[in-house]
Amino acid sequence: MTDSFSTNRKKQGFDYLIVGAGFAGSVLAERLASVGKRVVIVERRPHIGGNAYDRYDEAGILIHPYGPHIFHTNSRQVFDYLSQFTAWRPYEHRVLANVDGQKLPIPINLDTVNRLYGLSLTAAQVEDYFASVAEPVEQVRTSEDVIVNRVGRDLYNKFFRGYTRKQWGLDPSELDSSVTARVPTRTSRDDRYFTDTYQAMPRHGYTRMFESMLAHPNISVMLNTDYRDVIDLLPHDHLIYTGPIDTFFDFRYGRLPYRSLNFEHVTLPQEQFQPVGTVNHPNDSTFTRVSEFKHITGQTHAQTSLVYEYPTAEGDPYYPVPRPENAELYRKYAADADAMQGVTFVGRLATYKYYNMDQVVAQALMTFKQLEPELAGVRTEAEVQV
Ligand SMILES: Cc1cc2nc3c(=O)[nH]c(=O)nc-3n(C[C@H](O)[C@H](O)[C@H](O)COP(=O)(O)OP(=O)(O)OC[C@H]3O[C@@H](n4cnc5c(N)ncnc54)[C@H](O)[C@@H]3O)c2cc1C
Repeated sequence: MTDSFSTNRKKQGFDYLIVGAGFAGSVLAERLASVGKRVVIVERRPHIGGNAYDRYDEAGILIHPYGPHIFHTNSRQVFDYLSQFTAWRPYEHRVLANVDGQKLPIPINLDTVNRLYGLSLTAAQVEDYFASVAEPVEQVRTSEDVIVNRVGRDLYNKFFRGYTRKQWGLDPSELDSSVTARVPTRTSRDDRYFTDTYQAMPRHGYTRMFESMLAHPNISVMLNTDYRDVIDLLPHDHLIYTGPIDTFFDFRYGRLPYRSLNFEHVTLPQEQFQPVGTVNHPNDSTFTRVSEFKHITGQTHAQTSLVYEYPTAEGDPYYPVPRPENAELYRKYAADADAMQGVTFVGRLATYKYYNMDQVVAQALMTFKQLEPELAGVRTEAEVQV
């Protein structure tokens, strides 16, 4: 009886309904389709790719509408997996910070210190310099603690305090140490923003890569659709949800705070605007950073397109705000999510974590592995009764 019930349902509908066509949803759709499952992805936006979506603007320049997305990973598994769907263009991201009238390398390195203070220290001497200006903190808890403990208050004020206050709307002393712990300090002259083993951009852009992932005949994609409007019309055995977890539960414990951004896209009639992909503006304007896409994509064009980022509390949920009380609130939602049968929560918004693209791909591949018993047809009691 169980067999004929599930077979009928499958004839009429889908094995999996996936909410969201970003990295989390698309990787799972591709993996599930590859083992013969029928998948429908429902996406609220008018395009696939989630926040990594890219497109050509009116001037014909490839831009990232949701801010610059630089791919980097130490995971061979993630890189090999994505390489099935795209060729790559090697790219190492570099960032300068506009401080005291100069554009200086960030993460802070030997050149940053020498140029800022007019010194000519060696790598060994700058280590001593950091030690001499550091303000030791007994227990590193906040984002401020991380930086002053390592490089002292002047570098903290010039490079981190203003930027973090703009980005998060909070002083670094009110934010979890994880935010600034992501940015290293170097004694070498290495000015790469990331040091991962694999640093490259999809040669023809992210959207082409997503198109290739979702091209499997077992995958249907519905754009411009909120899953709530169609869930009852699309019979499915299992739901995979990659949207915000608090929305899924109708905010039953209250809203999880997110930080958002307004993006101002500009095209200029000149070949190049700034020397590197991104220039940070910690103290001198209301935007946090300016990115110039041609550095990142390698495109040649007589004009250039930039994006300015203005942080805001309202708007699309982009960054989970890492504070202990928010982690506590998330745990309540996560407990309810764990207790659900037939629903899986994956991705940056569904797990309320600041994940880079490669981490979301890794999480989705891991989730696929965890679904294997179900894929093999082994069903729990509760699932049989759904
Ligand atoms: C400004 C910015 C810059 C970033 N830069 C980098 C970078 O340089 N490098 C890097 O590795 N990572 C970067 N990231 C992180 C990267 O964007 C994420 O890791 C990745 O996009 C997360 O994928 P996801 O599938 O979890 O979520 P998303 O890409 O957000 O996809 C979730 C999808 O679900 C859809 N959805 C939500 N609710 C519903 C609903 N009710 N019905 C239907 N659809 C719904 C949304 O529309 C969305 O498309 C950046 C993020 C931001 C915000």
